Amino acid sequence: MKSADIIIIGSGLGGLVCAQLLSKHGYKVLVLEKNEQFGGALQIYKRAGATLDTGVHYIGGLQKGQNLYQYFKYLGLMDKLNLHQLDIDGFDCITFEGDKNEYKLAQGYENFVEQLCVHFPKERAGLQTYIAKIQEVCASVELYNIQNPKLDSFYTPYHLIDTQEYIQSIIQDKKLVSILVGNNLLYAGAPNKTPLYVHALITNSYIQSSWRCTDGGIQIANILVRNIRANGGVVLRNKEVSAITLSNYRISSVTCADGDVYTCEHLISNGPPLYTYNLLSEEVLRKNVKTKYELQEKSIGAFTFHAILEKETLPYFNYNRYHFKDENTWVNHQYNADKWPENLMIFTPKSTDENIISAMTIMDYSEVEEWKDSINIVPNTISRGATYEAWKDAKATIIENKLIELYPEIENKILHIDSSTPLSYRDYLYTKNGSMYGYIKSIHEPYNAYIPTVSKVPNMHFTGQDINLHGILGVTLSAFLTCMPFVDIDKVLSEVRGM
Ligand SMILES: Cc1cc2nc3c(=O)[nH]c(=O)nc-3n(C[C@H](O)[C@H](O)[C@H](O)COP(=O)(O)OP(=O)(O)OC[C@H]3O[C@@H](n4cnc5c(N)ncnc54)[C@H](O)[C@@H]3O)c2cc1C
Repeated sequence: MKSADIIIIGSGLGGLVCAQLLSKHGYKVLVLEKNEQFGGALQIYKRAGATLDTGVHYIGGLQKGQNLYQYFKYLGLMDKLNLHQLDIDGFDCITFEGDKNEYKLAQGYENFVEQLCVHFPKERAGLQTYIAKIQEVCASVELYNIQNPKLDSFYTPYHLIDTQEYIQSIIQDKKLVSILVGNNLLYAGAPNKTPLYVHALITNSYIQSSWRCTDGGIQIANILVRNIRANGGVVLRNKEVSAITLSNYRISSVTCADGDVYTCEHLISNGPPLYTYNLLSEEVLRKNVKTKYELQEKSIGAFTFHAILEKETLPYFNYNRYHFKDENTWVNHQYNADKWPENLMIFTPKSTDENIISAMTIMDYSEVEEWKDSINIVPNTISRGATYEAWKDAKATIIENKLIELYPEIENKILHIDSSTPLSYRDYLYTKNGSMYGYIKSIHEPYNAYIPTVSKVPNMHFTGQDINLHGILGVTLSAFLTCMPFVDIDKVLSEVRGM
């Protein structure tokens, strides 16, 4: 196909959801993905024979009748996904150095309160207020409730409320305050910054229900690609869009790095907005918007770690453990390279036949800046050099030692270790400085993080985690918003509600 109604740059979740929705509605769609593998942050990779995930560790809202279940069912995903529900009484477990207690965040609103009351019985009323508040925040976002949205539907008054300040106003016990935000690695949170809206939308989804993808999140991308192709859409890999051509201020075609040119009526970019504007042939447009996007703060990057273990070394645990050095659980409170890592998310991936322990923490780009000019991406794999490898190994060893301290049974049972840094995410996803979640949301600049799905160019649209909200739920909702100009959204959402 050399021409399409709608070209989509990138096959991350947002690009694929748009392609599925639009191809289902009769549009001729063409998805161009620069990588060998589809899925963006959903990708997996193989090391020492084991399958390792890059991005998605658990997903919320997938129980029948819940919001993501209904969206996924409409997209033809639900019947084909291989999912495993995390522990009802504790999908997340918050632990601290020197404290033997395990503080559990449970599924179900009442259960959530009950499990925390085991340790904090005096805080029952505060916990009930907290639960009511997060539901109130979620009720204010139309698409979250599968209701017809306004284009700026993700902008709510709760953008201005600081999460930390709000929780402190209703909960007396400092430790409980830190536990309630203990999984804020999910949104790289910070005190006096993270809006209650971000905390509530994400936390609520997991409290409703929490799921792991058995054998990796890539299945979401694979099913969507199959569905798009069955609808007549085309999805191509190893196709990096290197230029976007305009005629009369409208996009007319895109050119790939291999020289292939594709014409289109409309373009949807799943790449970061700034990066997309940089590809435009009209310099005046590039300059206009560049500064706005350049100045906006991106979320911090991640260091991820996987240890492949001898079979049956460590039983699978059906929750995520968030472990902290002290009670300051905000992962992004003040980055200190000398104290790294101050927090770890630890989990065992749900795998059919492998025994793996994985960990993840934040990592500032300044740590890897020395190697910023190196590129390491399949199929053009070039090593970043011996000093980088030695530095990365040293970082991985710090995490390995911590895990051995927490799980002594894995000592001498590790067959292989693999880790990745913000540079890997930068090169695979083209996110600035390897940012994990796109533009950071802040109570101080609520509008800055709001990127509209429509652009300065009438037939260019945006989708993906830079728009509205990151994560599987946030990106799926935003993709429906992106498609609003092309489909009868009332009808679509009424069908989604019927799922
Ligand atoms: C470490 C990590 C852990 C996470 N854990 C979770 C989790 O547990 N639960 C959860 O819900 N969310 C999680 N997330 C967030 C979630 O994975 C992302 O928000 C979501 O997958 C991003 O989707 P996206 O549509 O923005 O696309 P992306 O994943 O950013 O993909 C964009 C795609 O566009 C392609 N592209 C860019 N430029 C071009 C070009 N010029 N030509 C062709 N292709 C191009 C890229 O190659 C890429 O494939 C995690 C993210 C990270 C990084």
